[in-house]
Amino acid sequence: MYNVTLIPGDGIGPEVTEAARRVLEASGVAFHWELAYAGAEVLDKYGTPLPDSVLASIRKNRVVLKGPVTTPVGSGFRSVNVALRQGLDLYACVRPCKNYPGVPSLYKDVDVVVIRENTEDLYAGIEYEVGTPEAAKLINFIAETKGDTVRTDSGLSIKMISEAGSRRIVKFAFEYARTYGRRKVTAIHKANIMKFSDGLFLAVAREVAKEYSDIEFQDTLIDNMTMQLVRRPQQFDIIVAPNLYGDIVSDLCAGLVGGLGVAPGANIGDEIAVFEPTHGSAPKYAGQNKVNPIAMMLSGVMMLRYLGEAKTADRLEKAIADVIAEGKQVTYDLKLGEEDARVVGTSQVADAVIEKLKKS
Ligand code: NAD
Repeated sequence: MYNVTLIPGDGIGPEVTEAARRVLEASGVAFHWELAYAGAEVLDKYGTPLPDSVLASIRKNRVVLKGPVTTPVGSGFRSVNVALRQGLDLYACVRPCKNYPGVPSLYKDVDVVVIRENTEDLYAGIEYEVGTPEAAKLINFIAETKGDTVRTDSGLSIKMISEAGSRRIVKFAFEYARTYGRRKVTAIHKANIMKFSDGLFLAVAREVAKEYSDIEFQDTLIDNMTMQLVRRPQQFDIIVAPNLYGDIVSDLCAGLVGGLGVAPGANIGDEIAVFEPTHGSAPKYAGQNKVNPIAMMLSGVMMLRYLGEAKTADRLEKAIADVIAEGKQVTYDLKLGEEDARVVGTSQVADAVIEKLKKS
């Protein structure tokens, strides 16, 4: 029996998490789900979108299945997703992107895993607004130390990449490769231009690669990488990237394999792992039993693998792949034309996967 914190989230979150919970239960592995609520719906009651009780449940169970949570624009409340990643030091964002036959896509046989650093880089939130005394001070400092190179009407966002942060994410990528029998790790960067940030990331990646002689290593400039990914994505296996490039490339890769409805993910630290789809809460579809639960279900497959239940994970993944390939019960985003009669709702996809599991 595994104790798992279940955060249904909001918008389409409760529907897709319920579909994932049902198929995970039907897989034969026993779970005890500890329900935890976060987001706008608990804000009024607790005065925070991320109550301490949620964090306590996560710290106790260490494994989380999470639906998407809305971050209202301009509300002033901090994103629950960012708070979880930073608060629990979930430094690795793992996004497998795989072609499942039956999903409309321009490509075949893509099977890449994007491993993105989650805590540093331009996303650390160290910024100076245009016209503020702090921005002026920094601009002066740059002028004193580097010559007069920054316009005084500039806003500044700091890109910081550390040796320790780079080491742990690259090591994570190689360990992931070993655990899951993958053959190659590609590090992406722009070290020819940003010598002290991306250059550091690259130097550390090369050093770490030497400890893993059983796995091929290559590095590629980010601009070349995006071109290569569009031309021949099949040549890549595991991609490890600093935060910003990882964010962009993981969306590109999700697009290569058919979009958000089939893109699972996880945010993982040394002790705690949160499994959640790449997509958000798509509020306009909330409560309509309409959206695709497969990204959420595949996040559940990742969770099974993380828990060491590889056989069950394979069985569940095959059941999902079979439902997609058979193509009789798929959601609107996988439809082939306007009048596609195969289109069903979220919970019917779960029913179809459960039927497949019963026969496997
Ligand atoms: P979104 O992913 O919620 O939706 C964008 C569009 O993608 C939808 O309108 C829909 O057409 C499609 N889509 C998304 N999920 C789908 C599914 N399962 N099946 C079929 N189609 C699907 O992105 P958004 O509209 O930019 O964000 C909405 C909210 O979600 C925002 O508040 C954002 O902050 C939040 N968000 C949360 C997370 C998270 O919790 N991890 C991640 C991303 C966005």
